Amino acid sequence: MLLNGNVTAILSWGYTFIFILFYWFSYQQSTHLWRAPYTRYISVATAFGLVLWLFVKFRFHLPWTTYWIEIGDYLVLATLMYGYFKIQDKDRRIKDRLFQSANWDALTHVQNYAAYDRAVGFHFHQSNTHHRDLAMIMFDIDHFKHINDTYGHLAGDEVLKQVASTVATVLKPFGSDIVLYRTGGEEFNILLPDRDLNRARPIAQEVFDAVKGLTTTYNGTDLQVTISVGVSILHDGDRNPLDFYKRVDANLYHSKQTGRHRITAS
Ligand code: GH3
Ligand code: MG
Ligand code: MG
Repeated sequence: MLLNGNVTAILSWGYTFIFILFYWFSYQQSTHLWRAPYTRYISVATAFGLVLWLFVKFRFHLPWTTYWIEIGDYLVLATLMYGYFKIQDKDRRIKDRLFQSANWDALTHVQNYAAYDRAVGFHFHQSNTHHRDLAMIMFDIDHFKHINDTYGHLAGDEVLKQVASTVATVLKPFGSDIVLYRTGGEEFNILLPDRDLNRARPIAQEVFDAVKGLTTTYNGTDLQVTISVGVSILHDGDRNPLDFYKRVDANLYHSKQTGRHRITAS
């Protein structure tokens, strides 16, 4: 309006105001999943289009015939734009779904090994750079093969789902920065940024107790499992995430070797 010298023209201000309102209204619409989206879209576009072109008609003294021709063209364009938005929306949904399946485990709905691998690299770098603590809890279900062999693979799946959701619930009060990952068949890792061993130990104990107290009912049969746990923290000498991981894994292995159903933290 400054460039066109229209600052004093009331109609220009009216046009600008309606246009901003149209933009805001369209944005609000796009954030909701409405029923009959095309009807909604075209109704809103028509309502605003009629008003906006009315401003143009009076500002430039256009005849009514030109007004209706422009409205017709505008509606054709609006319909074409709707097709374009649909394609964009479909594209976004496909990307969301790809991201979801690439990082989340379909069975347990916790993050998967790929997500863990990226996160451990990130936290390793952050902790080294800013001299911050980093702890890891790793656990593996004891004698899980026995569950599969005795009650079937689907029973085993149900146990995995229940264990993951129980542990995720236990972790929630400790902070959203603590994340559970399913890194193997019946093996899980928990990354605990900014936690030292003294803070990680009680969390590992709560996870351990929660799984111990869990009963999964499958086809009328009550199933119970225990876990073996390894806990450790990042050391100054760790050259890469694998050095850190190996210590946690060695602690888990120690828990298994010394009779299972226990926590080894060092
Ligand atoms: P340990 O106490 O030494 O850990 O013994 P385990 O029987 O738990 O360990 P093992 O490695 O012998 O067996 C793990 C089993 O987990 C074997 C595999 O078939 C099963 N498993 C891996 N992924 C899945 C899954 O997604 N669903 C089910 N039902 N079973 C799985
Ligand atoms: Mg196991
Ligand atoms: Mg295992």
